[in-house]
Amino acid sequence: MLPKTSSCPVCGRPSAAETRPFCGKACRDRDLLQWLGEGYRVPGSPAADEMKKSDDYGVDSPLD
Ligand SMILES: [Zn+2]
Repeated sequence: MLPKTSSCPVCGRPSAAETRPFCGKACRDRDLLQWLGEGYRVPGSPAADEMKKSDDYGVDSPLD
């Protein structure tokens, strides 16, 4: 059951057409930076961190 209008994943406000799914450029940029930050993680991080990540995926994976 999905809401008719999507909300900004960063702050939860209604998303704007130009910057969907975000409410504005500020939140879009913020999310992008966070995403890039994840990508820039140095390879070979501790196993504990990997496990924590996969656990997160299991909880709220949107691909089901
Ligand atoms: Zn927002």
